[in-house]
Order: sequence, then structure tokens, then C-alpha cells
Amino acid sequence: MAYSRVGIVTGANKGIGYAIIRQLALQYPQSPLNAGSLLVYLTARDASRGEAAVKALHEEEQLRKAKALVTDGGPTEIKFRQLDIGDEKSVDAFAEFIKKEHHDKIDFVINNAGVAFDGFNDKVVQDTLKINYYGTLHATEAFLPLLKPTGRIVNVASMAGHLSKYSPAIKQRFLNAQSVEDATQLMQDFASAVSRNHEKQEGWPSAAYAVSKAGVIAFTRAIAAREKKAGSEKLVNACCPGWVVTDMTKGKGHKTPDQGALTPVMLAIQDISGKTGEFWQDEKVIEW
Ligand code: NDP
Repeated sequence: MAYSRVGIVTGANKGIGYAIIRQLALQYPQSPLNAGSLLVYLTARDASRGEAAVKALHEEEQLRKAKALVTDGGPTEIKFRQLDIGDEKSVDAFAEFIKKEHHDKIDFVINNAGVAFDGFNDKVVQDTLKINYYGTLHATEAFLPLLKPTGRIVNVASMAGHLSKYSPAIKQRFLNAQSVEDATQLMQDFASAVSRNHEKQEGWPSAAYAVSKAGVIAFTRAIAAREKKAGSEKLVNACCPGWVVTDMTKGKGHKTPDQGALTPVMLAIQDISGKTGEFWQDEKVIEW
């Protein structure tokens, strides 16, 4: 079957990612992007968890009542595909599959997959940066060429990546980061400072997750600027979903996963007046 629109969501077997798929199915019929059928790839690193998520979505009362999914006559179809963003081979194989299947005609990618570990040491920093920073960066670069000329990338960052926690000098380096290399250099400098037990003296917070998400915002801005300079109309944005009740927050938070999904979904399928390279929360651009 040929689909009018195709989207991809990473880390979508649970939490905010799962709710993003549900919100896409509910909102797509009223979206300005709506031009007929939508195919969404629900991706997850674990096949059984991903397949179970697709099954659960099909059994959801709300989606059935709204006739949101194809099996109930709706315009959206969900397909599972395995994708581990911490494994470059997995990302590249998925990108290759998408290229063959959809010929560079992807409408949006929501890079939602992420990790948060307890504690703070060298290993936690390496493991966190591997997924949240390097994994999301590799996925962004791999998927960008697969987008339609007006396609969109949405990177789920966090308010934890806000620059208020840094020394003025490090904050300025983040704000001045013009390229992906500048952003990656910041991540390397943070990791190096931690390995020398010197991060506080060098102006960093002792917080792997926060720094990884600041890195995501930095590279998102740099890639958006690069695209714009090259005359591309692709939109590349970062957002915070808010503090959301999920496994990551151990059940704490102010928002339900559906509420947390609203900003990423808006950035993927609603009218955002061509904005790119911005950091969003509560469906608005916020200062970084
Ligand atoms: P969850 O822990 O509930 O879900 C995280 C998802 O990411 C899971 O599906 C997980 O899969 C997946 N994932 C982890 N590592 C990988 C990987 N290597 N490859 C592919 N998928 C992976 O967290 P949330 O739903 O709360 O978080 C979603 C996003 O929102 C994250 O990026 C998070 O940092 C961000 N965020 C969340 C906030 C909150 O308050 N909850 C606040 C700010 C940002 P698996 O089940 O296999 O582990």
C-alpha cells in the first residue's frame, strides 16, 4: 500500500514514545499535514516489547472509538521495526530499509528514545552520552537525508538540558556552538573533566543526563542552522515534554504521557510557522 505520509518514532514501546504514537493517530486526521493515510513506524530496541506495544495500541478503547487506526477504518497504520539507537549498525540498517521502502519520502522522525541512570561516575557518563547524545545524533544524521524536502526532525531533549546550570564560560560555549563538531567537543570536554574528577571546577554540573540533553539541544540548533544555510526547508527542533509520569521518572511527574506527547507531536505534524533550530516546551518556543 502507498501511504501519503510516513513517520518514525524511536523508543516507542512505552512511556512518552508510546503516547506519541497514540497522539499521532488521534491528531493526524485534523493535522494540516493530513493528505491521506499515515504510516508510523513504532520502533523499539527490543522486538517483543515493540510488538506488544503495537498490539496494545490496537486494543486501546480510545483509539478504537476514534476509529484512529487502519483496522478500525482510521487513516493511521502502525508498523513495528527494531531499532537500537545505541547501535550504529542498527540505525544504519533501519535507514537503509526506509530508503528502499519509501525512497527518501519520510515526513517526520521523532527521536524520543533516551536513558537516565542513577548515580554519577565515569561509566554513567559514558553510557548516558552513548545513547542520549551520540545515539540521537547518529539517528538524526542518518534520517535527515531520508526526509522529504519539507520533512521534520523532532529531538526530545529536556529542561534538564537548560543552560542555567553551567558556569558563564561553559554556557557561552553552548550558545556559540555553530557546528555538530562544537557540540561534540563540549560532550568530550565534559567526559574528560569527569574522568579527572574536575567537572565542578571546570563549570559543569555533576549530572550526566542534563549534559547529554544540553548536547542534544546544541547539535539540533547546529544542524538546523546548517540545513537553513544550505537552502533546505527541513525543520529540526528540540523540545522538553515536561515532567512526565513514566518509568524514567519512577512514577513521579506533573504530566501524563499523553500530555508529555503534545509538544513533540505538534512539532511533527502541526503548523509551526516554519520554525527551526528552536527549543520548545508546552507547545511554545522557550529560551535555552
Ligand atoms: P521511559 O524510560 O519510559 O522510555 C524510554 C524509551 O526509550 C523506552 O522505550 C526505551 O526502551 C527507549 N530506549 C532506551 N534506550 C534505547 C536505545 N538504545 N534504543 C532505542 N530505544 C531506547 O522514558 P520516558 O518516556 O519518560 O522518556 C522519553 C524521552 O523523554 C526520553 O528521551 C527522556 O529523556 C525524555 N524526557 C522525559 C521526561 C520525563 O519527565 N519523563 C522529562 C524530559 C525529557 P526500553 O523499554 O527497551 O528500555
